[in-house]
Amino acid sequence: MIKVAIADSCARSLEQALRAAGSNEIGGILAAEQVGDGCFLVVDLSIQDDGTTSNFVRDPIQRREFIQRFHSRMGHQPERFNYLGEWHSHPSYLAIPSEADIEQMQDLVEDEEQASTFLVLMVVKLAKGASLRGSIYAFRPQLAPVRGRLRGSERLPIQEEFEPIIVIRGRKKTDDT
Ligand SMILES: [Zn+2]
Repeated sequence: MIKVAIADSCARSLEQALRAAGSNEIGGILAAEQVGDGCFLVVDLSIQDDGTTSNFVRDPIQRREFIQRFHSRMGHQPERFNYLGEWHSHPSYLAIPSEADIEQMQDLVEDEEQASTFLVLMVVKLAKGASLRGSIYAFRPQLAPVRGRLRGSERLPIQEEFEPIIVIRGRKKTDDT
């Protein structure tokens, strides 16, 4: 299972941006340091805040520029520092990917130009109080997405969001009389 942690500075800019965006969806790119086998620390993220209340469309030019800047800042060590994937917010829904989100990410990871072996999608929202809630999924070409473990920083933890479990109480069949 992949594990993704968010560096404190990134968790804080995320929280600020989510607060400022209110009920609009925002999103961007995650850039990370690989800190172990399947373990990543998000050390930089872009914030594109021109979404609407129900949709966020990424800007490919902003995105390419952000990735290029990140590589030159980290001294071009792509095996250690690299583009990890995408993030966006669900201010009004559960912070888990929708079916459309899953389709989009699958298209992105299967895009030949992308040449990615895997990408992640993080969906986040503000939790009540001052923290964040969210989830992270890993996407690979030709495979079903797999949920990973997401955590924030020590000062700004992220609560994992899960789909609520609906318990349907089984009614015991009684004798027909
Ligand atoms: Zn979404």
